[in-house]
Amino acid sequence: MARFNDLLSLGILKDDPEVRYNKPEDDPTREPVMVNFKMIMIRGIRHFGAVSERMKLDAPIVLTTNPSIMNEIREWKKGDVVLLKGTLASMDAVRRTKCPECGEVEKLSESLVYINPIFVMKMYQGMDAKEAQEFLKSCAEISNRITILGTVFDKPNLYTTRAGQRIVNYKLEAERKYRIKGDYETHRKDYVIVKSYGKIADSDSAALKEGSEVLIEGMLQVRQYQETAVCPKCGKEHTVIRSKTEIIPYSTEYLQIDRPIKTEKTEAAPC
Ligand SMILES: [Zn+2]
Repeated sequence: MARFNDLLSLGILKDDPEVRYNKPEDDPTREPVMVNFKMIMIRGIRHFGAVSERMKLDAPIVLTTNPSIMNEIREWKKGDVVLLKGTLASMDAVRRTKCPECGEVEKLSESLVYINPIFVMKMYQGMDAKEAQEFLKSCAEISNRITILGTVFDKPNLYTTRAGQRIVNYKLEAERKYRIKGDYETHRKDYVIVKSYGKIADSDSAALKEGSEVLIEGMLQVRQYQETAVCPKCGKEHTVIRSKTEIIPYSTEYLQIDRPIKTEKTEAAPC
């Protein structure tokens, strides 16, 4: 299967970038090993079947282990306006949460979906929040765009919300055409939830099943939700806020249907 995963974004840094090093702070030979930040993007939400006509802000995670991109990004500051081209990637991550009752630190596993930048450029700095948001609005067409080719991993699920909105969601499996530095050699696939609305949801529901191949043009949505965690030490329940990055298609092309998904590939990696 061909591989295609192309993301374009013009956005604003939500916070200063967070830098992780290979050695402690007092070691002058330390080098950065990972840089990440949240990037605020804007999208109109009427074009792909949603009821609302609002503009919406989302702030997905941008994460890199590439030395030259890390060096550029680590100089950036909160509020900088940046242009980025990259791919959407995923990894198994661990989130630490503290029990409010007894203070026990619990590790919650999650599938982290993030942007892997390939090209970055700072365009403006020093705008105040209002100026930056006005600027972002004028760039809504290119602020949050993704084109991705993948395979429907599980059975698409159609449901209707109380407001009458029809939604289909499914997990997409996308093959990676590159290797991310620091990631497992064998990690060659990314997984992300796709959520379609309205007419696209209707046709997705009719056309897609496990193993279908799709070419999606869409946008990223970051959704926060609450989850109940049970503390392994004191056994009490507490609420954890988690977030999920999903793709909202505005166009889905159905390439091939009924292809078994679990087939092992023998094809050699290109890099
Ligand atoms: Zn506890």
